[in-house]
Order: sequence, then structure tokens, then C-alpha cells
Amino acid sequence: MPEGHTIHRLAARHRALFAGHVVRVSSPQRRFAAGAALLDGRTLVDTEAYGKHLLHHFDDESTLHIHLGLYGKFADGEAPAPEPVGQVRLRMVDERHWLELRGPTACEVLDPTLVAALRARLGQDPLRDDADPRVAYARVGASAKPVFALLLDQAIVAGCGLIYANEVLFRAGLAPTTPGRAIGAGCWDELWDDLRALMKEGVVRGRIDTVHTAHTPEAMQRAPRVDRHGGEVYVYRRPGQACLVCDTPIARGPLAGRNLYWCPTCQR
Ligand SMILES: [Zn+2]
Repeated sequence: MPEGHTIHRLAARHRALFAGHVVRVSSPQRRFAAGAALLDGRTLVDTEAYGKHLLHHFDDESTLHIHLGLYGKFADGEAPAPEPVGQVRLRMVDERHWLELRGPTACEVLDPTLVAALRARLGQDPLRDDADPRVAYARVGASAKPVFALLLDQAIVAGCGLIYANEVLFRAGLAPTTPGRAIGAGCWDELWDDLRALMKEGVVRGRIDTVHTAHTPEAMQRAPRVDRHGGEVYVYRRPGQACLVCDTPIARGPLAGRNLYWCPTCQR
């Protein structure tokens, strides 16, 4: 599933393509036909991301809400738009550009009350300037759950996914099973700042890189990672491989129903 940095990139992309423009909206596969009819012919005012949720705001205060889930995918390009192929849930076009969405978990029109309700159930998004890490810590510091699970809880930290959760804990030298209430406020602040910096870099690069300068392929004279996720990481999907810092084989195990990866030596 895409992590928050991908959704923030999409919000910026869609703003650049359509903000301030009247758009035609349709649903070639018809599943979003009623929603598309509400938006068709309106001006897209602005876009934003909140965690893994993408919001397109329109001039009548209605909002298009999209959650990609596991299979959702956008495509876009310059006009003229191609003939729709396959299951296109949403198509947005103006005289210069087109945008298509396939396979999302959510694609719906919300009024301001429902947008407020959505935001109220989401936690703090490290990529947003209005995020408050203290609000997240109020939940973390009171919880007996493992910090790994708390980082992945979208009601606490919105936008953090599996790769960032695994990697930020390695970089902090924290055992992923550490209960939230054993994490001090200062430790949380450091974790938050590191997560925010990593995710901001992800927005710029369009991929997740988490290794320090000393552990890049060039610095270590090793082959770059080959993986569809692309970036250079310490533990994610590296079970059995040598830790880049201490050579201990990276461990893997299920935790909170998700795949946890860690270095048993660096993260005691
Ligand atoms: Zn290690």
C-alpha cells in the first residue's frame, strides 16, 4: 500500500494539473457515476493529503475523497485523453490535461461535515505543517502496545506505513516491541523528527531511502538494492541478510498482523 509520501506527491501533482480550473468529471465504469455528476463542471480549488487520504476540494465546498488502498492507481497526461481502457472509476479532464483512477478502496464525494469527521478520526500526519507530535504522544505514552503497532495506527500517526515504521525504529535503535508507555517524551520527539525528515525526503525523491551516508551502496562499495520499492533501507524486506551496521542477520516476524523486520543486535 502506498505510504503517505506518495499521497502528498499526488496531491501536489493534481494541484499543478487542475487547481483553479473547471474540470469535467466522469466514471467510465459507472461505479462512481452519481458522485462524478456532482463534481462535473465545477472548479477544483485545491488539493491536499492527510495521511493516506487524498482530498480534492471544489468550489461548492464539496470534496472528492480518495483512498488508494492496495490496488488503487492514478494515471495522467496531456490532452487529448485516451479512450478509457478497463475499469476506470474516475476520469477528470480539462482542456490541457486528463487524470484517471482505477481500483481505489474509496472514491466518494464528502460535504464539509464528513471531511471534518474523516480528519477527526485520523492521527497526526508528519508531512503536514499543522501536525502536533504532542497529540500523538498523548496516545503513544499511555499505551501498552508495541511502538511498532502504534506507528502504524492511522488514528495516531497518519501516513506512516510499513516501510517507514520498520526503518525509523531501526534508526532509533529501538526494539519494535517496546511498549509505548516506555517511550519518553524526548525519545518520541526524536522518533517523530526523524520520521518527518525521512518522509519529506520521500516526497522529493518519490521513493523511500532511509540509510545514512555511511551506508549507501557507494560508501560501502556494495550492489544497490534491487526491489520494486527501490530505495536503500536497513531492515525492510531484508530477512537473513547482514545488518548494514553490525552484520547480524536481519530478523523477521509478525507483529500486530504486519511484517516486522529488525536487527536483534542494533535494536535490543
Ligand atoms: Zn545491526
